[in-house]
Amino acid sequence: MAAGSVSSPFFKKLDTANLGFPRMGSQRELKFALEGYWTGKRTENELLNVASALRKEHWKLQQVAGIRFIPSNDFSFYDQVLDMLVLLGATPERFGGGKVTLDRYFAMARNSREQTAMEMTKWFDTNYHYLVPEWSEGIPFAIDTTKLLAEIHEARSLGIDTRPVLIGPLTLLALGKGVDGFDPYLLADKLIAAYKEVLTRLVQEHIFWVQIDEPILATDLPEDAAQFFRKAYRHLGTIPIKLMLTTYFDGLADNLPLAAEANTTGLHIDVVRAPEQLDNVLSVLKPHQILSIGCVDGRNIWLTNFAEASALLARAVASLGAERVIVAPSCSLLHVPHNLQAETRLNARIKSWLRFAAEKLDEIAALADGNQAAYQTNAAAIADRAAADSSTNPRVRAALAALGENDFKRTSPYSARAILQREKLGLPLFPTTTIGSFPQTAEVRKHRAAHKSGQETDEQYEMFLREATAECVREQERIGLDVLVHGEFERNDMVEYFAEFLDGFAFTANGWVQSYGSRCVKPPVIYGDVSRPKPMTVKWSQYARSLTTHPIKGMLTGPITVLQWSFVRNDIPRQQTAWQIALALRDEVRDLESAGIGIIQVDEPALREGLPLRRADWPAYLDWAVKAFRLATSSVSDGTQIHTHMCYCEFEDILSSIAALDADVISMESARSRMKLLEAFHAQKYPNEIGPGVYDIHSPRVPSAEEMHKLLTLALEVLKPEQLWVNPDCGLKTRAWPETISALDNMCKAANELRTQQGA
Ligand code: GLN
Ligand code: ZN
Repeated sequence: MAAGSVSSPFFKKLDTANLGFPRMGSQRELKFALEGYWTGKRTENELLNVASALRKEHWKLQQVAGIRFIPSNDFSFYDQVLDMLVLLGATPERFGGGKVTLDRYFAMARNSREQTAMEMTKWFDTNYHYLVPEWSEGIPFAIDTTKLLAEIHEARSLGIDTRPVLIGPLTLLALGKGVDGFDPYLLADKLIAAYKEVLTRLVQEHIFWVQIDEPILATDLPEDAAQFFRKAYRHLGTIPIKLMLTTYFDGLADNLPLAAEANTTGLHIDVVRAPEQLDNVLSVLKPHQILSIGCVDGRNIWLTNFAEASALLARAVASLGAERVIVAPSCSLLHVPHNLQAETRLNARIKSWLRFAAEKLDEIAALADGNQAAYQTNAAAIADRAAADSSTNPRVRAALAALGENDFKRTSPYSARAILQREKLGLPLFPTTTIGSFPQTAEVRKHRAAHKSGQETDEQYEMFLREATAECVREQERIGLDVLVHGEFERNDMVEYFAEFLDGFAFTANGWVQSYGSRCVKPPVIYGDVSRPKPMTVKWSQYARSLTTHPIKGMLTGPITVLQWSFVRNDIPRQQTAWQIALALRDEVRDLESAGIGIIQVDEPALREGLPLRRADWPAYLDWAVKAFRLATSSVSDGTQIHTHMCYCEFEDILSSIAALDADVISMESARSRMKLLEAFHAQKYPNEIGPGVYDIHSPRVPSAEEMHKLLTLALEVLKPEQLWVNPDCGLKTRAWPETISALDNMCKAANELRTQQGA
């Protein structure tokens, strides 16, 4: 909508809500307090004080912004799913019963010498990781409301009445796993009773509203889940408290009747991800129900288009009346950085298009106020962003428009390429290689930091990197690996490294987002068309190549992984940005090939996590994602070997798309699942070459040659010998050198034994 066409949205001020605020603090105070506590440098009291100060600061910030429904219990020392289990008395039995102290809490969240922590996995399609509930028969469900009530009281001491947040029963149950095949739904009655107890406690505390999060309603639900949901909310409805049934990350779609049937006082929907659901939702609401409209994006950092958001709000107001509409972020603001004010690294114009958590609160308030000045400013910023030259690069647009079928296809099919590649590369049967990175030691990090802070000159840093690379190549030769890598010592991060070379990316100084526990990531921002002004990796691959007669494998991060691990612009479809990145990578692939690099690996560990929440949306995504990879890799000659790498398991359900990548070789994480993955590859007759990881790189344990030999033998039950490569599960950057050398020595030994047995 153009700048001039903002109409007065509504005549009455609407209510406002927030669904959750980032916990870490503007300077990541919580991270440092946690890590200080874990290493014994801080006392428990110091940690508790930091946490309390942050909560208070964040509540006040929300109050000052004018938010009416301010959440509590959205704070966490590690993870809100674990907190919910503690509240319900449903922590995994293997950690023992009784009161959960802070140390026992951390024991469940973090690996120690004595015990492995709870499993961690991604929260829906975000980069936040939660701890997976472990459901078993003997869970006591002895509720412990200490944290929940303490936060409510703490906020009250500031004069703020909060709306506490709970994760809903279906989401909690469905995200967990049954221990030893136990069926979690057998716990239905006990779980519902525990929730009722918690709500009853809140009634006693004079809490009137509770936010109950059920993001699982944005996914495809099996019938037993739906049944449990109905039952649970029938029971919860008997407690005299108002529930805001909160859904996000996608539309309710066919779960809308279920959500409506729950008959809660409030329903929250995400109209950033799924604006099309609004009219359907409006049509099912009963006269007493309130609708919370998530129209400020909690997943991305762009300013809200007020004209679009207010059009949705106006539709809701017309149908329900202003008293029954609440303006809210689409989901918790946990997934965006804290505040924009302190940003020093961003160019002022780009900054004017961005909103972090604190600024999103202001947007919510302004939208609800119908504040005309704010609407005008917003329209001007939206128009400025649309008109910016930096958003559109005509060369890139023309290149995209000119793409034809052949841009997505290697010249010859794999069977013909394989013959050429075998001839050209002269590799033995069961070639050995690694995934790319070698140990990023304290020394490597020290030099990088010194270079970044200006204590080390470009020349000094370069010298150090060359030495590290040379040493790494020598070591690989000594170990006897067949295909060598340069080691990736120049890379801080597998996405940021590339982003810094590319046009269309911007970087924040402090745009941290929690990934898990105390760990935060700082995703780059894709604000404009992506292109590659100059080579990014060629120098390092070429240098490594000059040091050895073995083939060197070039190492790139794939288009989908770059996309997934960045904040992506929302003014063009993600597919277009992915293809732009692919075009930039294609330039790099070509340059590597011209520099004599005959093997090029394009990593796509994030291919699977880009999957939409609904199965029905998978084919469209997989189609453009696979094409992005093919666009990046198809321009090489038949004799150049393209590798890809994937990790984080569970690829069985997208195997046909993995095959469609048409990479000559794929390496995958599989050691922990004992090669289970391969049966699926076998079943679908995967034609190309595969390197199923033969050892887990997440621990310093050195596997024996026999152990790896066994895994390879298992692999050979389903793969042809010419198909099998030998490599670890993933990159080695988190490992130390001594264990890396021993493990790779053993790996090569295992490959050699196999060759002898096969008479190769
Ligand atoms: N090439 C990268 C590395 O070895 C791959 C990392 C990954 O798969 N996450 O570090
Ligand atoms: Zn990996």
